[in-house]
Amino acid sequence: MSKLIDAYNRTNGICFICGKPLPKNEKEWSVDHFIPQAIYKWTKDKEAKELIRSNENLFIVHAKCNYSKDSALPTKKAISQINADNKVKKTLNELYSKVQESVDEYRSIKQKTFALQDNKCAICGKALTLNNSTLRRINNNKNRSAKNAMCLCMNCNTQAGSSSQKNKMTVKAQDRNVKSKSKALATKKHK
Ligand SMILES: [Zn+2]
Ligand SMILES: [Zn+2]
Repeated sequence: MSKLIDAYNRTNGICFICGKPLPKNEKEWSVDHFIPQAIYKWTKDKEAKELIRSNENLFIVHAKCNYSKDSALPTKKAISQINADNKVKKTLNELYSKVQESVDEYRSIKQKTFALQDNKCAICGKALTLNNSTLRRINNNKNRSAKNAMCLCMNCNTQAGSSSQKNKMTVKAQDRNVKSKSKALATKKHK
């Protein structure tokens, strides 16, 4: 509770994405993790995990702004451009430096997976951008690794949360893996 009020006060009641005042009513607040929670799930670095869950990484924003932010990964440049005072930026910069390796690792897995899928969602085939897609495990019983990763559009990612959808998805994603592997083999042969 007070965690959220802290976050609200840290930016003086201003949304750090658009710079406009936030609603007074807490029910209309949207909570944003500056370093995305997705990285919390993928990193094996304990300190990074703690920092991603820390209060300093928590911000109150407009729901609309949170949605439009997609899952763009933070950069030092992005920190310099947020609507917050220098003290907040300095704290975020320090936090970012400590989790940067985890962010870079996540980014690299995502870029590779993304390219393997020809920039399309592994489930529905819709064209994706790196910023409007999320990395997810193909098989939830296996570890988070590049081999067990698929890139999904926001819609499919939300649906992936429901177990009824999961089997269908997993099959498709595995199919994708097989296809891309045989493609890779075929390319090798040509060389
Ligand atoms: Zn906003
Ligand atoms: Zn999709």
